[in-house]
Amino acid sequence: MVPQMKRKLTQTALIKSIEKRAFCLEDPRAANRHYPLKDVFMTSFWMCFLNADSLSSYYEDLQKAKGNVKSLLGVREVPCRNQMCNVLDQIPLDQLSLVFDDILKRMDRSGVLNDFKHSRFGYLIALDGTQISNSKKISCENCCQKHHKDGRVQYCHSVLNAMLIHPSQDVALPVGDEFIQRQDGRKRQDCERNAARRWLNAFSKQHKIMNMTILADDLHCNQPFIEALESKGYNYIMTCKEGSHKYLYEWIEAQRQGGDLQTLTLTKYEGNRKRIYQYEYVNGVDIREHDALKGNYVKLTIKDALGERNLGTFAYLTNYKISTKNIEALVDAARRRWKVENEGHNTLKTKGYNFDRNYGHGKKNLRQVMALMKLIAMAIHVLIDYLKQETLARVRKSYTSIKKAMEGIRNLFRIKRCKSWEELYKYALFGLDSS
Ligand SMILES: [Zn+2]
Repeated sequence: MVPQMKRKLTQTALIKSIEKRAFCLEDPRAANRHYPLKDVFMTSFWMCFLNADSLSSYYEDLQKAKGNVKSLLGVREVPCRNQMCNVLDQIPLDQLSLVFDDILKRMDRSGVLNDFKHSRFGYLIALDGTQISNSKKISCENCCQKHHKDGRVQYCHSVLNAMLIHPSQDVALPVGDEFIQRQDGRKRQDCERNAARRWLNAFSKQHKIMNMTILADDLHCNQPFIEALESKGYNYIMTCKEGSHKYLYEWIEAQRQGGDLQTLTLTKYEGNRKRIYQYEYVNGVDIREHDALKGNYVKLTIKDALGERNLGTFAYLTNYKISTKNIEALVDAARRRWKVENEGHNTLKTKGYNFDRNYGHGKKNLRQVMALMKLIAMAIHVLIDYLKQETLARVRKSYTSIKKAMEGIRNLFRIKRCKSWEELYKYALFGLDSS
């Protein structure tokens, strides 16, 4: 079994690369360095990896599992909660985000990255923003603020996630992030569009050679962002709605009335249900009225077997030239973006990661650092589940839900002293009697 294993992508190897990053982090503490920074960092990372429900339940587990803290977490001494939160609050987000690049490079070197390459469109990277906190009372210096007319102020944090979408399997792997937050020296509020530009600049510096197609929603389907994508050599397929592309849609309507739109109608089966797929498309559309870039437009309308009931309409703009040969694959790739919602954000919020739960807000970065650690933990879980080469993957499959599996692992962590994670996972799989 061992020779076939992708050694660079085992839990041990991936956690080691995180520890390496933790060693390189600048220690924000001037004094009181009783706990090594690596221990503080890894204590909190394991909380995310184990999908702990809350800081207090995690600390209870740590108190009861002192032997495992050393042998499994590799932590010499557990810092107190305040110490942990104070340190995390000051960790620079950009240093932590480098873990995503490490993971991608490991995937590349082990050949696994190639599995994620779409035969026509290269690597599909889906962008989507999500809110992680919203409060009327609790705030920090990086919170975005919403000022209401009645004087109330609302404080929130959001993040733009970048996920690598598998071309044929339901797998969404976090590969980057950009927080929507108050920028240094700026009075203006940040927004998802600005965050997308910052993510693009940082990501393209790290991954120059990748053949990439960015999938994004209508918010990003605008000339400045498309110009920025094209300047980096990236392709795109983005949702293009009428409400935000008035000129483009008027032009399309004129083409439609003149009979100049290309069309294609196909019969497909979703399970055993017959569906009519009606495509219309045109290449070389002006994206706006003045000084416009040109894009290629496609709309898909899905109807029932009789062609009467409209079951959904999807419209996209892309830089790929559309033809009858690629239209199905192109729209299929675009529609895979919902994987971010289903596989990504839903998993983060409802399947154990408690992405929008507050573990403390901090004065500066705590809220974002915790969210980032959860994204990194998710990336490792997704890879382990995808590769199916380790016992952990079997454990996560063997319970009724992944949430339950992680709960089982946390219970064992608390009650059963183990020499290795492998030993603990075997107990999780076969029961304590198996010893
Ligand atoms: Zn805040």
